[in-house]
Amino acid sequence: MADQTLQTLYVSELRDLYSSEQQLVKALPKIVKAVESEELSDAIANHLEETKNQVSRLEQIFESLGETPKGKKCVGMQGILDEGSEVIDDFEGSVLDAGVISAAQRVEHYEIAAYGSVCAYAELLQRSEDLGLLKETLEEEKNADEKLTQLSETINQDALQSSSKRDSDLGRQQAKRETSRSRKTRTAA
Ligand code: FE
Ligand code: FE
Ligand code: ZN
Repeated sequence: MADQTLQTLYVSELRDLYSSEQQLVKALPKIVKAVESEELSDAIANHLEETKNQVSRLEQIFESLGETPKGKKCVGMQGILDEGSEVIDDFEGSVLDAGVISAAQRVEHYEIAAYGSVCAYAELLQRSEDLGLLKETLEEEKNADEKLTQLSETINQDALQSSSKRDSDLGRQQAKRETSRSRKTRTAA
């Protein structure tokens, strides 16, 4: 066990992040389609593009370390994404959107914690090029989290109103469903 150095931990946590980011690349397109708010949908689609770039940054780091990025499954991210899928199954309309924001912020906070750690290790291990790349990703995760907080201000309000009107305004809900259906058709096209 004496050979389990900080360098070993660094590579292991980078592999965990590689798995996280790849799970997100797979999961985000479904979430982009499931939400009602166009702004939220655009924000998640935008972060999906950033996430693909984050995968490339990690591959670049592995290449320069002479290590393979594969071999670890991030079960933490898997759990967070499973809970996100439950929200999508259990809710609809702006309440679903509010729940997706909550799930997405869990993702971002988890990533912020993990990237914060590997940034600290990269600095101690004097991997300055890695550090530059990891800091870029960390900034993107923080910005994504802030954007979600911003969007939650109106979306949570919409969710509050839609639940108080639930029984008295079925017509409006029907109309919303139509809108969401035509939006989905547009996205699919
Ligand atoms: Fe990420
Ligand atoms: Fe993990
Ligand atoms: Zn992220």
